[in-house]
Amino acid sequence: MTTAQEGRTAEELKSLAEQAGRELEDASALEILQWAVDTFGAKFCVTSSMEDAVVAHLASRVRRGESALDVVFLDTGYHFPETIGTRDAVEAVMDVNVITLTPKQTVAEQDAEYGPKLHDRDPDLCCRLRKVQPLEEGLKDYQAWATGLRRDESPTRANTPVVGWDAKRRKVKISPIARWTQDDVDAYVAEHGVLTNPLLMDGYASVGCAPCTRRVLEGEDARAGRWAGRAKTECGLHG
Ligand code: SF4
Repeated sequence: MTTAQEGRTAEELKSLAEQAGRELEDASALEILQWAVDTFGAKFCVTSSMEDAVVAHLASRVRRGESALDVVFLDTGYHFPETIGTRDAVEAVMDVNVITLTPKQTVAEQDAEYGPKLHDRDPDLCCRLRKVQPLEEGLKDYQAWATGLRRDESPTRANTPVVGWDAKRRKVKISPIARWTQDDVDAYVAEHGVLTNPLLMDGYASVGCAPCTRRVLEGEDARAGRWAGRAKTECGLHG
């Protein structure tokens, strides 16, 4: 396997991602993360929505020499207090380097420029300003990033590769738990005592920004509570 190095071209990264996606399809989450660390070194980070801390916990079990891995959290300014609390708890108890990204504007500044409740009137623009742009800025020095995406979360995620090419950002995108089911997540949380967002015990199956997240009903898929009633299923980070 390739060792960590500077200066790969986008074409080299793309080819690396495609090859790894094939070779690592059956690998464990820890093996996939270890490959990412060995391949990209400090140019690899893990992102977490703090819905649960499973991927952050996995990252805490993978070493990059003496350094802990970077775990990037996007603070949109609209999170539930429970989500911020989960971020703070991860930072306090896990051996990872939590990095919090924030949008250019506070919610008040955005309201002053675009009017209040942009999330109700133009959620795509709101997500672009508060999620997509800050993440793009925050990832610019990394060659590869990991997510907690899983194939069983929704039909839009059914083909998520364990390692793929993020053409929009021209980076390698790694989903170490893509093949996991909800039962796998629950078993990992129970086995390792992993922190989870308290809202998961309160009817929320997927946790995003407070104005755009509701509890799910019986029989709905995990992401049915996100942007419910609107023609939107993804924030733009993964599409
Ligand atoms: Fe805005 Fe809702 Fe997107 Fe959060 S999820 S950035 S509040 S539109």
